Amino acid sequence: MKTVILATNNAHKVSEISNALDFPGWDFKTLAEAGIESDPAEDADTFLGNARIKALAAHKASGGMAALADDSGLEVDALDGTPGVWSSRFAGEDATDEENNAKLLAELADVPDEKRTARFVCTLVLIDEDGKEITARGTVEGRIGREPQGDGGFGYDPLFWPDVFDGECTLAEVPQARKNEVSHRGNALRSMRFKIELEKAKRLEMSM
Ligand code: IMP
Repeated sequence: MKTVILATNNAHKVSEISNALDFPGWDFKTLAEAGIESDPAEDADTFLGNARIKALAAHKASGGMAALADDSGLEVDALDGTPGVWSSRFAGEDATDEENNAKLLAELADVPDEKRTARFVCTLVLIDEDGKEITARGTVEGRIGREPQGDGGFGYDPLFWPDVFDGECTLAEVPQARKNEVSHRGNALRSMRFKIELEKAKRLEMSM
């Protein structure tokens, strides 16, 4: 059995990641389940940098086990890509989703509909037992609305109108399974799955 430490204690992410990467013989454990304390400062200025900080810290704290971390956020074109890595603390260090959404709407108040383009980005970093790193990135393109709509999801979902839904609804108005089919995290996980399969095939070939 290969244990992979998930550098998160977010139960929802745990089930999404372990379903998407359900390789035979892989056993995912959260930091808490593995009894590991790891809470490094996420002070990089890119999603990749922050995901790498979390994955490496979990890899080291576990004494060299495989570790997987993600980092994600919203990039708004009219705001030069912010909130970006500051997405969870856009309105302040302990800001609620409602406060972050209100700040985003205020900053975009004078921005016309055609310039309200944005994307969610998710970056994943897997550090294997031998220290080898595999990274994957996923995005979902869309637009920022003018008021929150929908009760599902979290974060900026009620303001985000994915292009792929063709103006029908926000990301907060679809069931989780539908969100996973189009989301930045779903896309990053599909890319990660593919890259791990390639790596496994490469290793198999080298061992023959
Ligand atoms: P984290 O990387 O999951 O901690 O996400 C950082 C922040 O980005 C969250 O607190 C949200 O504000 C925002 N965010 C990331 N993913 C999503 C999403 O799927 N929907 C809405 N907001 C998100």
